[in-house]
Amino acid sequence: RGALRLVLGDQLSEGLSALSDIDPARDVVLMVESVAEATAWKHHKQKLVLVWSAMRQFAERLRAKGLRVRYVTLDDPDNTRTIAGEVTRALGEGAFDRVVRTACGKWGLEQALLNLDVGVPIETREDDRFLCSRAEFAAWAEGRRELRMEFFYREMRRRTGLLMDGDKPAGGRWNFDPENRKKLPKGVRPPQRLRAAPNATTQTVIEMVSAGFDDHFGMLDAFGWPTNPEEAEATLEHFLAHMLPEFGDWQDAMAWEQPFLWHGLISPALNIGLLDPLDICRRAEAAWREGRAPLNAVEGFIRQIIGWREFVRGVYWLKMPEYGLRNALEAEGKLPWFYWTGETDMACVADAVRSARDHAYAHHIQRLMVTGNLAMLLGVHPDAVDDWYMVVFADAYEWVEMPNTRGMATFADGGIVGSKPYAASGAYIDRMSDYCKGCRYDVKQRLGDDACPFNALYWDFIDRHAQRLAGNGRMLMPLKTLSGMDEAERRAFREKAAALRSAMGV
Ligand code: FAD
Ligand code: SF4
Repeated sequence: RGALRLVLGDQLSEGLSALSDIDPARDVVLMVESVAEATAWKHHKQKLVLVWSAMRQFAERLRAKGLRVRYVTLDDPDNTRTIAGEVTRALGEGAFDRVVRTACGKWGLEQALLNLDVGVPIETREDDRFLCSRAEFAAWAEGRRELRMEFFYREMRRRTGLLMDGDKPAGGRWNFDPENRKKLPKGVRPPQRLRAAPNATTQTVIEMVSAGFDDHFGMLDAFGWPTNPEEAEATLEHFLAHMLPEFGDWQDAMAWEQPFLWHGLISPALNIGLLDPLDICRRAEAAWREGRAPLNAVEGFIRQIIGWREFVRGVYWLKMPEYGLRNALEAEGKLPWFYWTGETDMACVADAVRSARDHAYAHHIQRLMVTGNLAMLLGVHPDAVDDWYMVVFADAYEWVEMPNTRGMATFADGGIVGSKPYAASGAYIDRMSDYCKGCRYDVKQRLGDDACPFNALYWDFIDRHAQRLAGNGRMLMPLKTLSGMDEAERRAFREKAAALRSAMGV
C-alpha cells in the first residue's frame, strides 16, 4: 500500500514537502474542492476562481508528470464538503497505509488535521516554502522583550545573503524607508499593468462560481490573477521590468481610481505557491546589481517579502490561538455597511472598497491607512475587521491576514506586530493621495458637517486611549497636542465622533 499525499489549495508548488519523495506507482495525491473551506468565510468570487482554477491546473501538471491524482471536484456527488471528510473517505477505500501532508496556514484547520483519527499514521512536514521555519522564528523570539520586524529582517538579510556586501548591508544601510514615502506628483500615472487573461480552465471555473456563489462579495468581470506558474512568471517579470524601479518612490502613495500603482500584484500567486519568495527577491536584487532598479526600491520590496511576510507568519504561529482573541483596545463596534457596498461620500474609503470589489485587491496603504485606520478609530471589533479582510482579498490567508489586521492595522494585539497604533487623521491621507480634493468632505475641517470624519475620530481615539498610550514614546506628539486642548474642544471631538459612529451604524 502507498501514501495518500494531501495537497491543499494554497500548496500548489511542485517542490512541496508533502510531495518530495512521492512514489508514482503506489502513492496518490489528494486534492479537494471543499465547500466548507470556501464558505467558512464567504470569500470574494475572484478568490474562489483563483484557487480552484489553480488547483485544477496543478493537478493536470502532476498528472502530466506521471503522478496519480484523486481530484474531488465541487460537483462530485460524493464530495463530503470538508478536507478531513475527504481524507477519511479516501482512506476508507483501503489502499493507503499513511497520510503525508505539509503543515497548513490556518491554525484551526491544522488542529483538525493533527487530531484526525483515521487509523493510519499522518506525517506532517514543515512548509519549507517559507524562509524561516516556525521553530527558527520561535528561537529568534525567545527571551526578547519585544518582537520588532526590523531586527528580524536584518537576521533574514544575513541568513539569505540578500543585499549584503560581506557582513554589511548593501549601500551601508539596512532600511531605505525614509526615501519611500513620496506623494505622487500631479499627472504621474503608472504604466499599463499586464494582467492574466482568463485561460480555458479559469473560464470554466468563472462560470461555476458565477452560478453557484452569486451571494459572495465582489465582481468577476476584471479577473486578472495568474492561475499557473507561467502566468505568475509573466506577472512577476512585468513588475520587475516596468514597476520595480519606481516601487520605492511611490510605495506609500494612493491615487483615485489607480488600484495597482507600482505594486507587485504578486501576493495572490505567491500565497498559493505559484511563485517562490527567495527567487523573487534574488531577481529583484539582480535588477539593482545590474543597474536596472535603484537600491531604495529593491530594498523596500525585499523587506516586504523576507521581512514583513515572514515576520507576520512567525508571530501568527508563535501566538495562536490566543492571538485570535486579542482585543487590546476593547473595541466592540460593528463594521459600517459601506465596507461592503462602497456607498460612502468618503472618497478614500469608496476607492478602496471599489478596488476590493472589482479586483479582490487593495494595495498596502489603502488596507492599512484607509480601511484599517478607519476601523480602528471607529472602534470596530477585531473579529468583524478580520472577517472583512478575509472575505474581500484574493491573497487572504489567516497566517498573513490576521497579524496584519489585528496587529498592524488595528493594534488589537496590543503592540506585538507594531510598536504603536497606525492611527492617522485626514492630513495623512491628504499628504499621500489625491483623494481629498475630490471628496465631499473638507480635510482641513475638524468639526462641523463638512469636516473630514477621520479628524474628529482621530482626536477622539487619542483621547479615549490616552492612558493606555501614555507609556509609548512614539505617541508623545499627539498626546502632547491633546493635553494642550481644553475640555470643551475635547468634548466637541467626543460628540462629533459619537455622532459619526452612530451615523455609520457602528
Ligand atoms: P507589494 O506592495 O508589491 O509587496 C510585495 C509583497 O510583499 C507582497 O506580495 C507580499 O507578499 C509582501 N508583503 C508586503 N507587505 C506585507 C505585509 N504587511 N505582510 C505580509 N506580506 C507583505 N497580505 C497578504 O498576502 N494577505 C493578506 O490577507 C493581507 N492582509 C492585509 C491586511 C492589512 C490590514 C494590511 C495592512 C496588510 C495586509 N497584507 C496582506 C499585506 C499587504 O498589504 C499585501 O501583501 C499586499 O498589498 C499585496 O499586494 P502586492 O503583491 O501588490 O504587494
Ligand atoms: Fe478621506 Fe477625509 Fe480626504 Fe475625504 S477628506 S478623502 S474622507 S481623508
